[in-house]
Amino acid sequence: MDTQSQVVDRLRSAFHSGVTIPEQFRRSQLTKLMSMIKDNEEQILKALHKDLAKATKLDDCFVRREPLGVVLIIGPWNYPLQLLLIPMVGAIAAGNCVIIKPSEVSAATDCLMAELIPKYLSQDCYAVVRGGAEETKALLENHFDHIFYTGSQTVARSILQAASVHLTPVTLELGGKCPCIIHGRVSIAAAAYRLAWAKFFNAGQSCVAPDYVLCSPATRDALLPALCKVLEDFYSKEPQTCPDYSRIVSPRHWTRLIELLKRSKGKVAMGGQSDQEDKYIAPTVVVDVAEDDALMKEEIFGPILPILTVESLEESIKFVNRREKPLALYVFSDESSVVDTVLKNTSSGGFCSNDGIIHMTLPGLPFGGVGASGWGSYHGRWGFETFSHRRACMLRGWALERLNGLRYPPYTETKLSW
Ligand code: NAD
Repeated sequence: MDTQSQVVDRLRSAFHSGVTIPEQFRRSQLTKLMSMIKDNEEQILKALHKDLAKATKLDDCFVRREPLGVVLIIGPWNYPLQLLLIPMVGAIAAGNCVIIKPSEVSAATDCLMAELIPKYLSQDCYAVVRGGAEETKALLENHFDHIFYTGSQTVARSILQAASVHLTPVTLELGGKCPCIIHGRVSIAAAAYRLAWAKFFNAGQSCVAPDYVLCSPATRDALLPALCKVLEDFYSKEPQTCPDYSRIVSPRHWTRLIELLKRSKGKVAMGGQSDQEDKYIAPTVVVDVAEDDALMKEEIFGPILPILTVESLEESIKFVNRREKPLALYVFSDESSVVDTVLKNTSSGGFCSNDGIIHMTLPGLPFGGVGASGWGSYHGRWGFETFSHRRACMLRGWALERLNGLRYPPYTETKLSW
């Protein structure tokens, strides 16, 4: 008999083969499940009776959306206003009371929120609690009806532990390494503009920023001069003096990025300059980066773009699938078959072809990760759903009580023959 891990391995390899995806397969398996129940109805009823002695007949039903109660929203520092207020809108719309906990790292926004929210919203229903790790840990000892956390994977583990004490459901909006696959015929100039914008906006401190590029050596060679031109167009020859180029949020975060760059065995193809006092790191592109390079070990979350070369689209897809499922996956190509192949053979929180970040601005699309990049989603009506309980309701009157007699014991032969 197979061990538990052999069973899991067998199913995982079947899943990766794509066999469960075609509609025909899903239909045929569901039909077989139906046949299983029909063919074995008697045995199933006997087993159910033996185990639980029950049978149920559903009447009428409806779903009622109800608020969850008192919810906690914990925010990060990189978009300190949006990442608190957008989930808060969903939570308020669904009828909850809300505590927001801004990041202490973005101290000015933290302070302003604590001042403004009580001035504008009901102080009985909405509150701001301030603090760093220690204060947040203390806050998490309280019982909440939902915790909505945006931040790093490491801290997410502590959040889950704290939530488990009260069995509190959690939404996790995390990060990770978002790949950008460039393959086939590509409008290189446009690709360079969109890639550079998505990567270097907010100095790379976006959870959905392209973290690294996978492309052929020929594409890399065409992309480098195009990126060089774009970066000059965007930020001038001296990005440090450009008012449109952001700084790293804190000295600690600056040091982490500089250390990462030092440990990388890749070659800096452009940028690389930095200024500790100013928390500045130039838009930087690194080539000759191997899969086990320091830059590939953690989410970069800064203005450093590694370019890794591959020989084929298949190799890019395998590369992505060897790693945790990303928050966003980007593919740049003029060929729709390339986009389609990547879409169908990978998984990620969100997906966007021929652009970066922009897919998350659409309120009609749910925003969230999958697996290690996050649990659950929000934006637009998805936020309302996240902060609502879908209560399954059945309302019954007292009519037709005689018909209900069939389900009451004793289960005589006459009743069973029905
Ligand atoms: P972080 O995990 O360090 O901090 C997030 C929040 O958790 C802050 O409010 C902080 O005070 C609190 N916190 C920190 N340590 C804690 C602890 N030990 N116990 C309890 N609470 C603690 O994250 P960050 O540095 O602010 O944000 C960067 C990360 O967030 C990146 O990984 C990025 O990808 C991710 N992110 C994800 C999204 C998304 O929507 N998926 C958006 C922005 C950022």
